[in-house]
Amino acid sequence: MRQEFSIIFILLVLALSVCAFLSYRSSKKIGPSVSLLLCGLIPPVIGNLIIISSSVRFISTLGCYIYFLGMDLAIYSLLRFTFDYCLIRWPNTGLKIFVYAFFVIDVIQLLLNPLFHHAFTTEAIIVDAEPYYRLVPYLGQTFHRVVDYAVFLAVIIIFIYKMIHTPRVYVERYSIILAVMLFTGAWETYYIFSRTPVDTSMIGFGVFGLLVFYFSMYYRPLKLLDRMLAGIASQIPEALFFYDDAGRCIWANEPGLKLTGIKDTDFEKAKDRLAELFGDFEQDSDEWTLKRSQKVDDEMRYYIMEKHTVKDSRDYSSGSFLSIKDNTEEQNALQKEKYNATHDRLTDLYTKEHLYECIHRLLLNDQKTDFLIIMIDVKDFKIINDIFGSEFGDYTLKQIAEWIKGMMPQKSVYGRLSGDMFGVCIPKDEFDAEKLEKALSQFVVRNDNIEHHILVHLGVYEVNEPKLDVSVMFDRAHMALSTIKDDYQTHIAWYDDKMRERVLWDQHISTQLRRAIYEKQVRPYLQPIVDTEGRIVGAEALVRWIHPVDGFLSPGMFIPVFEKNGMIAELDKYIWRCACKLLSSWKKEHSDLFISINISPKDFYFIDVAAEIKKIVKEYDIDPSKLRIEITETVMMTDINNRMKILEELKEAGFMIEMDDFGSGYSSLNMLKDMPVDILKIDMVFLSKSKQNEKAQKIMHNIISMSEDLGIISLTEGVEDEEQFRFLLEMGCKLFQGYYFARPMPVDEFENKYLE
Ligand code: C2E
Ligand code: MG
Ligand code: MG
Repeated sequence: MRQEFSIIFILLVLALSVCAFLSYRSSKKIGPSVSLLLCGLIPPVIGNLIIISSSVRFISTLGCYIYFLGMDLAIYSLLRFTFDYCLIRWPNTGLKIFVYAFFVIDVIQLLLNPLFHHAFTTEAIIVDAEPYYRLVPYLGQTFHRVVDYAVFLAVIIIFIYKMIHTPRVYVERYSIILAVMLFTGAWETYYIFSRTPVDTSMIGFGVFGLLVFYFSMYYRPLKLLDRMLAGIASQIPEALFFYDDAGRCIWANEPGLKLTGIKDTDFEKAKDRLAELFGDFEQDSDEWTLKRSQKVDDEMRYYIMEKHTVKDSRDYSSGSFLSIKDNTEEQNALQKEKYNATHDRLTDLYTKEHLYECIHRLLLNDQKTDFLIIMIDVKDFKIINDIFGSEFGDYTLKQIAEWIKGMMPQKSVYGRLSGDMFGVCIPKDEFDAEKLEKALSQFVVRNDNIEHHILVHLGVYEVNEPKLDVSVMFDRAHMALSTIKDDYQTHIAWYDDKMRERVLWDQHISTQLRRAIYEKQVRPYLQPIVDTEGRIVGAEALVRWIHPVDGFLSPGMFIPVFEKNGMIAELDKYIWRCACKLLSSWKKEHSDLFISINISPKDFYFIDVAAEIKKIVKEYDIDPSKLRIEITETVMMTDINNRMKILEELKEAGFMIEMDDFGSGYSSLNMLKDMPVDILKIDMVFLSKSKQNEKAQKIMHNIISMSEDLGIISLTEGVEDEEQFRFLLEMGCKLFQGYYFARPMPVDEFENKYLE
């Protein structure tokens, strides 16, 4: 019997040693404490082994010492382990010293036993026919037991305390170790009270050590894990459904229960409920993702469904789980973002970029239909904004947007291109120009007590090259638009290819002016002006461009272009200079001749006309009266006070002012009355184009005599034949210009012909 126990003890020591080594090497935090506990248990187990296997008193007594002293070490390391395992600390150092002092005292009194024999002795009994030295305890041994049991008890209390004061999921962590300790304590107590002769009590402690090793190092509390995972899964906002390998739903988290409306007692119903909600969504593969949307309480909701299969180490499916994420918020945010990016805030129409994209797609996808590109512009929107305030301005734009929405057919697309510009693409068949003209002619914006007629123009381009850049199409529509910019009668203008050619031409010559001036491709021609006797009294300087590639260009081909882009001032200054230079060269022999120069109404926007002319005249040192200044009525149409001042300034400086093209425009007599004009230059069109010639003749006659009365000299231009000349002479006209006398000609020709 003692032999079998000895073997058990030896195995225990080996097992403890191996476990101590393993826990020492383990990376777990508790490893060193477990290792210390196991090492601490080895000496008492060895002591116990010696006691039961020896039949020699000395050796048995030595075994007792190893046992008891080792026990102190074991209990001490148990205490250390407990502190680490339960994550507690000594409440104060006083208590710590107090407890450790008992260990020290116990060790000392045990070591003093050979001297005082106060702790224990051994006595021989016969067991298995051999002497066995069993323990005879005295007071010291009782003290030893009290110390060790007291600490052991304290450890048990600590574990019980921890068990009570820990979250439920962690109870198992303490309860297992506690159970093992109680078992060991019971074993030990049983031994003490059973008085079995052979002391095998350390088996209990040895087994305790091994169990502690297992439970603290390797045991994974599944329940804890289970609860934790369930807790985590419940907190996830996605609905989760877990299925076993047969496809039955075995668990669903809170959101899952909420989504399906099932109770946590009937998970199996989840599958049917999901099918009711989402239809047939199951896929064949192990892993899949799916997007579903459905109406819930009149509101569209979006879901992302994901299925994952859980496989074990042998790649067998142990089940699967389905997660359903309610993606509505993200989806709505995304859609809102997309909407904002593609829609204009004020009018809710498409933005320019998005409109271009939609039109591009529409034209490519439907090549059978003929489309029109329309640009819509509000005339003088800035003024509306200025006078009525930006709030009314915004309101106007919104009204126009509404109008477009209401007016344009289903198949059209439209958007806001910029401030007051809108764009539309519409099938040609559905464009009702008449209806639109009518609607536009009475376009009124009303807001509270403000009622404002606004002028809206449409520029229309018929798409004949669908692959063209949409922006180019709108450029063309814009070109058409610009032709009726100031028109109050017509509201719709169509683009034609001539417009494009014109724009190209404009661009073509705009870049060349400077060089043309420098190279003298641009130069003045002179057209003589004669008196009643047919004698030459002066000439008008008319610009010509002898272009190296495009040939002879008359002013009508480039002046409007430069008037538009502002280069006109540069051109005019050059011609004025040429005229002054000529006057300067004629000064000696032909000082009686004058030259008329043309001033564009646009010059006044870009330069100080009076200052510029005075400067040149001064530079060439010529008599200002020899330079006649031709302006048209349009000059006085804007900024009349300022313009008047400029003319007065010029007149004061000695220049003569001519009113050019009288009769071709408004021909305002009223204006004539106020203007400091010296010469009235009447256009022959006034006569020739009139059907009621007689009436026109009378008016002409009156204009001539009236201007004489006002002290204004009359000059008729465009005189083409003798008949006209005679007739004008009769009427009392003083000066004449026209093909009948001579066409405009190069300067040297003029000089050769008339000045030699
Ligand atoms: P304008 O100042 O009224 O010039 C008279 C125009 O009538 C000239 O046309 C001239 O060639 C034309 N003309 C002269 N006699 C007759 C005639 O008997 N019958 C017909 N049918 N036409 C006649 P042009 O040279 O083509 O100039 C056209 C317009 O261009 C000018 O009209 C003037 O307004 C402008 N222009 C010409 N040169 C300049 C310039 O250097 N600067 C500015 N700003 N404008 C200029
Ligand atoms: Mg002129
Ligand atoms: Mg004229």
